[in-house]
Amino acid sequence: MTDTPVRRTAWPDSAARPLVTPLQPSVVYAAADPDALDAQYEGRVQGYAYAREGHPNADVLAAKIDRLEGAEGGFVTGSGMAAVGAMMLGALKAGDHVLGGDQLYGRSLRMLGDDLPRLGIATSLADPTDAAAIAAALRPETRLILIELVSNPTLRVADMHGIAALARERGILLAVDNTFTTPRGVRPFEHGADIVIHSVTKLLAGHSDATLGYVAARDPDLGAAMRQAAVTWGMTPSPFDCWMAERGLNTFELRYDRAEANAAALADHLAGLPGVRRVLYPGRADHPDHNRAGDLLQGRFGTMLSFEIAGGRAAANALVRAAGDIAFAPTLGDVATTLSHPVSSSHRAVADEARTALGITEGLFRLSVGVEPLELLQAELSAGIAAAAQVAG
Ligand SMILES: *Cc1c(COP(=O)(O)O)cnc(C)c1O
Repeated sequence: MTDTPVRRTAWPDSAARPLVTPLQPSVVYAAADPDALDAQYEGRVQGYAYAREGHPNADVLAAKIDRLEGAEGGFVTGSGMAAVGAMMLGALKAGDHVLGGDQLYGRSLRMLGDDLPRLGIATSLADPTDAAAIAAALRPETRLILIELVSNPTLRVADMHGIAALARERGILLAVDNTFTTPRGVRPFEHGADIVIHSVTKLLAGHSDATLGYVAARDPDLGAAMRQAAVTWGMTPSPFDCWMAERGLNTFELRYDRAEANAAALADHLAGLPGVRRVLYPGRADHPDHNRAGDLLQGRFGTMLSFEIAGGRAAANALVRAAGDIAFAPTLGDVATTLSHPVSSSHRAVADEARTALGITEGLFRLSVGVEPLELLQAELSAGIAAAAQVAG
């Protein structure tokens, strides 16, 4: 008899457990016999069968995010958009209506505008800072409202309490995309949300090296339906990404607190610079939603801020080129500070008039603040803004 390396070997026993979550890339799991497989599928014993249906790295990560959100039974998806998709496909049927906030993440807007209508699901948008506007947009067939609590890039704060009261009264599901605010800012289940979703890609994983999402529902049956949708439509995550994200998540709270303190200080620094027309940060008294932010976010004003400089594209180019090592990148939530320019990235598909109405001009920048020394960020941004001012004249 010849041996062959094709046959798997036994995993070595160890009385001591590894400190770090093992990475388990196996797509399939071998059961002892058909009875054992029955026991597993019937839920009499816990076990994995096929990675698209679930694997340990996804479950470990989901359990950690559940604890942050005060949720139970949440699950991880292959991207933030997969989380939005699994939620919609699990919760809705043809004939339903979905109401979205009018400043949702761009791809979410596209799903509502182009994709759900093709499946027979009607959609419309309304301003989530105004509960009366949301109330006016509800229809008898409205099944779900999707909002983000702080909008990109103008950082308007939704009337969470007003919208939650409406949703409860009318028996409509309220879903919150908590990517921007994170459970460090607000835990939406404590304010009346029925569903919480995340792009884990952003602040939770925090290092721009894993693309993942998360979904949790208050109602276990609804959560199970959304999980099944993710499995059926193939929206489930890679073990490696989950493993990377879990590592990133270990420092999430530290990163968040440091970045938030930087953001608050930078907002004030920028507001004092000649050449800066306005600063948008919910923690500042001059922000239009400052009071609501104080109430909803309890002083956790977040890691994101926007500011506007004078001048057109030439000034914008000059700022980016002179802003030291701050990466110009259309993302958020990285451990390092990133600078984005909505007109040329997130909002490039938005019509000029609509953009202007939102206050999104060539001079508007959004900063996703990271954990660098504050003085370094102040110096780099000051240099960028001074260079832009020279061009703007
Ligand atoms: C990035 C983002 C998403 C989409 O997440 P991906 O991981 O890129 O698919 C959804 N919602 C918000 C608010 C986001 O910032």
